[in-house]
Amino acid sequence: MSDPKRVHNFNPGPAALPLEVLQQAQAEMLDYKGTGMSVMEISHRSKEFEGIIQTAEADLRELLGIPSNYKILFLQGGASLQFAMLPMNLRAAGSADYIVTGTWSKTAFKEAQKLGTARAAANTEADGFKSLPAKLDLDPKAAYLHFTSNETIHGVEYFNEPTPPAGVPLVCDASSDFISRPIDVSKYAFIYAGAQKNAGPAGVVVVIVRDDMLERTPANLPVLLDYKALAASGSLHNTPPCWSIYITGLVFKWAKQLGGLSEIAKRNKAKADLVYKAIDESGGFYRGHANKEARSVMNIPFRLPSEELEETFAREAKSNDLIGLKGHRSVGGMRASLYNALDVKTAESLTQFMREFQKKNG
Ligand code: PMP
Repeated sequence: MSDPKRVHNFNPGPAALPLEVLQQAQAEMLDYKGTGMSVMEISHRSKEFEGIIQTAEADLRELLGIPSNYKILFLQGGASLQFAMLPMNLRAAGSADYIVTGTWSKTAFKEAQKLGTARAAANTEADGFKSLPAKLDLDPKAAYLHFTSNETIHGVEYFNEPTPPAGVPLVCDASSDFISRPIDVSKYAFIYAGAQKNAGPAGVVVVIVRDDMLERTPANLPVLLDYKALAASGSLHNTPPCWSIYITGLVFKWAKQLGGLSEIAKRNKAKADLVYKAIDESGGFYRGHANKEARSVMNIPFRLPSEELEETFAREAKSNDLIGLKGHRSVGGMRASLYNALDVKTAESLTQFMREFQKKNG
């Protein structure tokens, strides 16, 4: 069989998956481990699926170094449902603090305001969401402090977690930089991430929750919104997204085989450095959105001198098999998403194209 056509995929999510993972899924598609069925056709109560979900959990525990007093859940409803479940479970009658650094933390904050009290510990919107806040106005009695480690649309990333007041749990939406580098999980009480950027296909959200947070869940929540019940059933209260969990598990295995998160972090840094270098050496032809100290390693939004040139850039990039570079409508311009599955060569292809495009149009 000839090699399939694969493009350089800069999609922001759903996004590129490692070729090895897709190939393994393809090889196992019709007959998963001698069952004569695909993973989509077996029971979520079968020993095969039990093996899939338990291995996925064990591999993630190893990858991120997750301590034993944390549970791992595989949930549905996207990261967006977590925006609502979090305050429902963790806030009780109190108030929660949110650091607003871009579209996603702003959306999480708005959802939290619907059913109770939430306050902004900082909000960088007036500066166009280009930076991390210089200082935080923290409530020492907050039910938790929420931040978004990487703002997918504005390309602003936290490399060191904000420090909450003593006793205030730290909660993080890590959707777009999940497993992109090592973190110290013990600093967090709660981490959640939609899988469809670094970790797998759409349809599953990974939640890492410290055991004591589960004690906060009020008694009257519908069971599918109840972290305590979902944890007690091992994410198997009802039919889980079996296929998405399977692929996510293959991605965790792939990440381990690549050398784990320090190795992956090096690769990600090398890719981002290449693109930022092309921006910085362009003499202003390309303009990055985020301020230098807050620049995301995962998502790089940038502008060209005119919208017309941006259209041409997207069109010509596409005809060179560089796909998914059009930016989000709220920021405009271009955005290169450089998730784990992309290799350094893909970033090189982009920067080579950027330099040639500037030569022709600059
Ligand atoms: N948070 C972040 C940081 C995101 O990038 C996204 C999706 N782009 C979301 C939350 C929402 O995720 P979902 O579509 O899975 O609800």
